[in-house]
Amino acid sequence: MCTCGDVRHGPEVRERRLAELRASRRTVLTAASGLAFSSAVAATAGSAAAGEAGRVKGAEDLRCYVLVVDGCRPDEVDSALMPNLRALREQGMYWPRATSMPVMETIPNHVMMMTGVRPDRSGVPANAIYDRELGEVRTMDLPSDIKSRTIIERLNARGLTTGTVLSKEYLVGIFGERATHRWEPELYIPVSDHAPDLLTYNALTSMVDELDPNLVFVNLGDIDRWGHTDLTGTSLRLMRRAALLQTDTLIGQFLDSLKSSGRWEKSIVIVLADHSMDWSLPTNVISLQSSMDADPLLGGNVVIGDNGGADLVYWTGPGRQREKAIKRIREIAEATPGVLKAWDRRTPWLRLGPEAGDVVVFCQAGWRFSDPDPVTSNPIPGNHGHPATRAIPFFIGGGHPVVEAGKVSPKHARTVDVAPTIADFFGLRTGKRAYDGKSRL
Ligand SMILES: [Zn+2]
Repeated sequence: MCTCGDVRHGPEVRERRLAELRASRRTVLTAASGLAFSSAVAATAGSAAAGEAGRVKGAEDLRCYVLVVDGCRPDEVDSALMPNLRALREQGMYWPRATSMPVMETIPNHVMMMTGVRPDRSGVPANAIYDRELGEVRTMDLPSDIKSRTIIERLNARGLTTGTVLSKEYLVGIFGERATHRWEPELYIPVSDHAPDLLTYNALTSMVDELDPNLVFVNLGDIDRWGHTDLTGTSLRLMRRAALLQTDTLIGQFLDSLKSSGRWEKSIVIVLADHSMDWSLPTNVISLQSSMDADPLLGGNVVIGDNGGADLVYWTGPGRQREKAIKRIREIAEATPGVLKAWDRRTPWLRLGPEAGDVVVFCQAGWRFSDPDPVTSNPIPGNHGHPATRAIPFFIGGGHPVVEAGKVSPKHARTVDVAPTIADFFGLRTGKRAYDGKSRL
């Protein structure tokens, strides 16, 4: 099933998550706007231990806003529905060849943005994984799921302040208490588990006006959610089009507020998506669980983590049969209509790490996975996770002199480039192998 809005936990995971939240120190500030923000008791605590002591001269005057337009396709920025984003792109720096990274899902790509490293280092390869320790498929929404240091923590350690304004419940979960100031929505739309962009926008402007962090990381979820659930489907996409228009208008208002408040000249605004969106026909559904269960070797020894356009397949049988099982899983998957390719997870370029299981199966454009149940697991037409959903918008605007107006780059920018770009902007020194991504400044 597509797990974008889906939270699947057993009681053990819920308990662990609650314990993690209870253990963190925080205060809740109610801003003048009436919105509540959670804030760290001491923003600079632990800076010596983090090995990044000392302030960077002038960095406290800089502002960086990362706006993730969740699930937006690059061609949608060109449409008449997004004039504000298009203008920001034309007046800033633009990477037309930019892509999301495998698995092209929300959680791993947001984690790549903030850690600057691929999933074999971040520990977060997908939205839904089979947790071998727990013995169940679960959403990766625990703060402890992220195994490497985020740019948020690096900035905090240098005495700078950070904010997260995340519309999706699982993103609030996985980024946890890392930022100095966090918005934790009180209202999520049922089923999609995201806060509408109007609320997210209000939280963003209120946080910037009243707390003014150096970095704010924002997820706007409406475009993605209406992409998934819009029952006008593959042709009309009426709700999706309405969401594009509204989100663009809100971003336009935010950019205006940066200009009228005097922040524009010291700001960069990084706009990108975490993945794009593909729509499947009702007949183009792939379900691998029953074929695996019918096989004499694999039956009862395979669990699937469904990620919409990608299935993560885990061998749970004896270790001595693993190599044989991987071969068999790939053969069965690749013989199934709609499957693009079944990769051995250890294939070097994938860089997904052991949490992603043994075989990674991608679907073709216009298809989706629905596992384990072919009917109920993933009934919605819009999906991502597969290579057809790699292309993303990626551009940097803002009034800071580092922004070269009208620059169009032929280079391949990726979600993993965001953290090194932020580090570069704030003047943090970064070791050669610290990041898998590159600064785009
Ligand atoms: Zn997403």
